[in-house]
Amino acid sequence: MTSSEDILARLVSFPTISKDSNAELIDYIRNYLADYGIDSILVSNDEKTKFNLHAVIGPDKPGGVLLSGHTDVVPVEGQNWTVAPFCASRLGDRIYGRGTTDMKGFVACVLAMVPHAVASKLAEPIHLVFSYDEEIGCIGIRGMLDVLEAGHARPRFCIVGEPTSMKIGIAHKGKTGMTCRCYGASAHSALTTEGLNAIYLACDMIGEIRNLHNELSSGVLHEEFGVPHSTLHVGTIQGGTALNIIPNYCEFKFEIRNLETDNTGLLLKRLQNSAETIAGRYRNEFEDSDIRIDVFNQYPALRTRRDAQIVDFVSDLLGHNEITGIDFGTEAGMISSRLSMPAVVCGPGSMDQGHKPDEYILISELNRCDVFLSRLVHRIAQ
Ligand SMILES: [Zn+2]
Repeated sequence: MTSSEDILARLVSFPTISKDSNAELIDYIRNYLADYGIDSILVSNDEKTKFNLHAVIGPDKPGGVLLSGHTDVVPVEGQNWTVAPFCASRLGDRIYGRGTTDMKGFVACVLAMVPHAVASKLAEPIHLVFSYDEEIGCIGIRGMLDVLEAGHARPRFCIVGEPTSMKIGIAHKGKTGMTCRCYGASAHSALTTEGLNAIYLACDMIGEIRNLHNELSSGVLHEEFGVPHSTLHVGTIQGGTALNIIPNYCEFKFEIRNLETDNTGLLLKRLQNSAETIAGRYRNEFEDSDIRIDVFNQYPALRTRRDAQIVDFVSDLLGHNEITGIDFGTEAGMISSRLSMPAVVCGPGSMDQGHKPDEYILISELNRCDVFLSRLVHRIAQ
């Protein structure tokens, strides 16, 4: 038997930044599971460089629990690390390394639980799903969900082990990523009446986005979230080629992170109306005047009822009922909506340490998760 701490050290040693392959890490997990007689099903991306893994411990029948985690991590470039990011190092009560908290810590605890689960006579299956490309918008798991959706033996509910300090996350926001393309007309910068400045169109549009954000921030507040309302945010902008040219093109990327109670379609419709109003003002004079918004990625919000069976189940195993909302997105919303399966987010570590230089997880958090999973196996074995 290998401890979660030792397995975590192995997992951290694979530099599975989302843009790179996770094949070696998946190989390691597949071999580890094979040592305990467990087969894995892999679902890859088109290029066959990245893989989701699905494995089932126990009887092949409906019911049981799905434990889910992502294998990719965010980059370390531009961050001031004082330890080697892809070599787990233990210092006092902490283990440092990229992904220790988000979320290889949970994956390590799940793998450390496997021998115990295999040795127990499980009455229902424990499904394991490890995905890729979560950090770039829950992209990778979609292929896996196609397979799970078509499968006959669907689990009863799902636990996604993103870091919540082992609190029970019942809600998170959804996310829609969009590109806004603004079209004006070029001219010499001295002849300001001859051109239509696409950067100005973008600024007006961004003003509308900020207005909408401010409106949402003064609406109904959901105090279980750190930021208790839906949010809008502009992340990147490009436009113009030279100071003495009126730019005819500008584009920016923005997002809506919505509470389950805010309909993204309606918010988007309103922004599209604003876009048409802004660009329409100039169309008599400049026929190319236009602002277009295209969605490039979307995943749904999660909202599991406080009185759902899974909340009781997880709360019993944890020995507490600390329920929370989560500000960051996870795969739980997508799993829950695609598979019509109640899901909660519950895992070791805190996102306060995620995505940062010198990311670490407390060993006590790994221990708490080990205990939780060991109780889970006991419960399912009854
Ligand atoms: Zn994560």
